[in-house]
Amino acid sequence: MTANWAGQVAIVTGGARGLGRAMVRRLAAQGVAVTVNYTSRPDAADELVAEISAAGGRAIAVQADVADEAAVIAMVARTEAELGPVSILVNNAGIGWAATIESWEPQGFARLRAVNVDGTIHTIRAVVAGMKARHYGRIINISSVAGFGTTGFPGNHFYSSTKAEVNVLTKRFALELGRHGITVNAVAPGFTRTDMTVGKRNAAEWAEVEAGFAKVAMTGRVGDPDDIANAVEFLASPASGWITAQVLAVDGGRMDYIAHG
Ligand code: NAP
Repeated sequence: MTANWAGQVAIVTGGARGLGRAMVRRLAAQGVAVTVNYTSRPDAADELVAEISAAGGRAIAVQADVADEAAVIAMVARTEAELGPVSILVNNAGIGWAATIESWEPQGFARLRAVNVDGTIHTIRAVVAGMKARHYGRIINISSVAGFGTTGFPGNHFYSSTKAEVNVLTKRFALELGRHGITVNAVAPGFTRTDMTVGKRNAAEWAEVEAGFAKVAMTGRVGDPDDIANAVEFLASPASGWITAQVLAVDGGRMDYIAHG
């Protein structure tokens, strides 16, 4: 049983930008050695690794498309060889897909599911044998409040459905792994400022979107990546060992849920 953060090793998928970057920084600040996984932006990953190294931490950047199981297995092998046995896995990599019933097409949906759902399964499959052998693990899946299915924000049907699947798998995997000392939880972020949400909007367009989401949050603001990292840090910590199978909404108190029973 690991009693503190010392000697721990984490993989954060999609760790170079957005929410993932805040999580990586937070874990590294606790002394955790971190694999910063990325697909398209080696510059962002290398910059983050350099920042952590300069502060005396340990981190490596590893390219792997989480939709590709062989690449994920290779990423875990490299992590174990260079940093040590993986005790924390944060499944943060995810993509959006704006499609309506009319515009749905199978390739787009297949890619969405391959990253958001299969990616989560691939990484868990790749780390779970080692975690079982050491009788310790913390797995945190980043889903979304969209996964509850009833947020008032229109569109995003298919993205929401992948995140609902992540929520269900979180609970099912927790059931399977609990007796092995492994907790599995999900963090469901609300609307948070990152490349994914800002997208191609200009400053005025973003201000309008942000104000709209701020209005439907009890706290009156959208999220900051650090808000999400706070929850991930807690669920990744040795102190959270009796918390599993939970989906924690971190959304500033969203109020735009459709109340159909
Ligand atoms: P983001 O700014 O678009 O960053 C996404 C990250 O995921 C990037 O680092 C990207 O890598 C990586 N990635 C994408 N596809 C990948 C793949 N196939 N394999 C490995 N890495 C991949 O997104 P974000 O807003 O930080 O979102 C992070 C997670 O939170 C996602 O799962 C998203 O669905 C969820 N979420 C976000 C919000 C929000 O409001 N921002 C709300 C709810 C849920 P590269 O840097 O190499 O491109």
